[in-house]
Amino acid sequence: MDSCIRALDALKQKLGDCVHTQDDELYGVSYDGLKVRGSPEALIKVHQTKEVGDVLKLANEFRIPVTCRGAGSSLTGGATPFQGGWVLDLSKLSSIDIHPANMLARCGPGAVVGDLQKKVAKHGLFYPPDPSSKNFCTIGGNVACNAGGLRCVKYGVTRDYVLSLSGYLPTGEFVRWGRDTRKFATGYNLRDLWIGSEGTLGVVTEITVRLILAVPNRVTFLGAFSDDQAALNAPLALSKLGIRPSIIEYMDQWTIDCLQKYIGEEVFTGVEPKPMVLIELDGSKESLTQDAILVEQWLKSDSMNYKRADDDGESEKLWEVRRQGSSSMKKLATTKLNEDIVVPLDRQIELVQFVDFLRRDFELKIGVFGHCGDGNLHVNFMYDEENEQETAKAVQALHQLMKKVIAFGGAISGEHGVGLAKTPFVRDQFNDAEWNAMLAIKKALDPKGILNPGKIFDVFKPWDQKKEKVVLSWERTDP
Ligand SMILES: Cc1cc2nc3c(=O)[nH]c(=O)nc-3n(C[C@H](O)[C@H](O)[C@H](O)COP(=O)(O)OP(=O)(O)OC[C@H]3O[C@@H](n4cnc5c(N)ncnc54)[C@H](O)[C@@H]3O)c2cc1C
Repeated sequence: MDSCIRALDALKQKLGDCVHTQDDELYGVSYDGLKVRGSPEALIKVHQTKEVGDVLKLANEFRIPVTCRGAGSSLTGGATPFQGGWVLDLSKLSSIDIHPANMLARCGPGAVVGDLQKKVAKHGLFYPPDPSSKNFCTIGGNVACNAGGLRCVKYGVTRDYVLSLSGYLPTGEFVRWGRDTRKFATGYNLRDLWIGSEGTLGVVTEITVRLILAVPNRVTFLGAFSDDQAALNAPLALSKLGIRPSIIEYMDQWTIDCLQKYIGEEVFTGVEPKPMVLIELDGSKESLTQDAILVEQWLKSDSMNYKRADDDGESEKLWEVRRQGSSSMKKLATTKLNEDIVVPLDRQIELVQFVDFLRRDFELKIGVFGHCGDGNLHVNFMYDEENEQETAKAVQALHQLMKKVIAFGGAISGEHGVGLAKTPFVRDQFNDAEWNAMLAIKKALDPKGILNPGKIFDVFKPWDQKKEKVVLSWERTDP
């Protein structure tokens, strides 16, 4: 009997109702946000952590590929079961236990990040990492991608909040990396090796995160600047004033133009589309008052125009400019490639100028917005995948962008990970010794190569695929 069939029989015997093989169920987990399709043979919805070990032991015995899945919101194909096999759905392991005395929370990997934030807020606590997808993405997926978000500039990324991880090695053996302590200097730090490993080195079944005190007050500003240089100077200028905004988000002129056409009104009446920066401050009432005065003085001198919001309703209106920027671009073409590159802060201006050159040279629609306080900019290529010529131009421009990012001392991904989408570029990011060290780690921990095969290391070209149009459940929610 074929070993895949024997493996599936053994899996059904061991896990019974957790195993699903109906076509419609398999179809639903064959994609993620990249919308490149894999063909899984089984979907396993685990209800207890121990079942993860059982699945991995069988997968190892029969050499079956296993792809972990949280919400499937990865934008890189990370959660796509590209080489078939089994999809291990961890979304049911969604417990959240809060320990206020230690200011930490213990979560199942399937806990939704927004739920965690709401739950800890009831105790006057705060879990800061906040990807825009927080209302549907899971903490397990965030750990696997080391997710970032808007507040990273002040509060850091997922890694900065993980105290310990429990889970299973690809061989099915249970491990716990780190403890629920603030410090841990005992042995190799495999906790941090798992964070950002995109489900290729182990399966996370429990995460302990540290929490901070809630920060209830905020003031928001939106400034329009004469040019990119002036806008991208914001992080340095504010830092020199001794201010640490919780958010600094840049939107280029092209993005603003696109947004204004989409919503049918000007952000600043009578002002041509200009690069804009959204700034948010948070803290105690006293510190906020002081800092807001300094920011306002700076905006008066360095921006062309600005708006200030002191209450949540007004703040939300300013936020709409940032949120709708991305949605408005989607109206321009059938495909939007969202690259999450990161460069040193002082190279952002050159990066934006280079994108402008690509835009003109290739006659492409490219919008740039993102977390300029971290040098993490989202470069969005819009093209029609049915149009071969346009697709070829977008791919060429994308290659040039990635080369430039690496030459600037940056990274091809700041928060989404490599998955499938970045595999054509990732090799150039590392020298031979670095690459071989990463491969050696993969081989040591996953000798049979069963965990998320095809990701990070094998070259895959998403633009060569004809994508099927599917609507995933999280696409129906407004991010
Ligand atoms: C509208 C939108 C906005 C977004 N905004 C942001 C943003 O601001 N910042 C950001 O960083 N990302 C963002 N993302 C990308 C995405 O939401 C993140 O990568 C998120 O971390 C994925 O979580 P998930 O639960 O959907 O994981 P999935 O997509 O299901 O999986 C992602 C990866 O993690 C692995 N994985 C999942 N669970 C586990 C586990 N328990 N153990 C081991 N591996 C596991 C998977 O195999 C896969 O490789 C956005 C996506 C969308 C659609």
